[in-house]
Amino acid sequence: MREYTYGPFQSRRLGLSLGVNVLANYKLCTFNCVYCEIGLTEKNNLVSPKHRINLPPSPHFNKELKSILRYVPHLNSITFGYNGEPTLNENLLDFLKIATIVRKELDWIGEKPILTLFTNSSTLYFDEIRERVNKFELVLAKFDVANDQDFERTNRPHYETQSIESIIESLIKLKREMPKEHKLAIQSLIFNSYKKDFISNNNSRNVLDLAYALKRIKPDIVQIYSNARIPAEYFVFAIDDERKREIASIFKEIIDNEKTEILIY
Ligand code: SF4
Repeated sequence: MREYTYGPFQSRRLGLSLGVNVLANYKLCTFNCVYCEIGLTEKNNLVSPKHRINLPPSPHFNKELKSILRYVPHLNSITFGYNGEPTLNENLLDFLKIATIVRKELDWIGEKPILTLFTNSSTLYFDEIRERVNKFELVLAKFDVANDQDFERTNRPHYETQSIESIIESLIKLKREMPKEHKLAIQSLIFNSYKKDFISNNNSRNVLDLAYALKRIKPDIVQIYSNARIPAEYFVFAIDDERKREIASIFKEIIDNEKTEILIY
């Protein structure tokens, strides 16, 4: 029986990716994003970035990983995330350690799969969390709003979440502290709203604020994309490719840094 893994799935951004859930079998998150593709965060499961759980991998994780990976020697990524914010688990690095050992023991066709972590960036203001996050070869950090009004509307964070400026500063620190061979990819999900009184993050002020914040963060990659599955809120719908290209060109002009690759999906 599979306890920890999902897929592998062909991902738009990661290639063939095996998902690993490091949380329990219910959603636990510091945000309740309107566009979340795993549904709404229930009241009791919307937690502070200070909240921690201790959920070490059982011996079954090693067996499960090996039993799947031996059949996909062409895998591109082992991706830690799913069911919410993975950095809430104090035992995150125990999962990484096992995956690193299993990856070493197996044979791969071409490049070995990259060890990837999703984070919503809300816990990165803790030094010990950035130290853990640093250990992943690719960090996919959510950052799709760059002012507090858009943050409240779009991500609906737990009330103890830091301000957006603190999140930007944490991302700047994370990039500075990451080993040179590891990469920081910022994920910006931009969406539209059908609801007249709901301003989506696809507004000119937010797009400009994002661009100026990204200039400060200096990530290796910026990924601009939109909803691909059913969102948590009925009024959310995807932006089209033309708008993605427009946003990419605004980012490019303002970021003005050849070292930051801007990709659209
Ligand atoms: S941070 Fe991710 S898991 Fe949490 S609510 Fe937002 S989209 Fe969903």
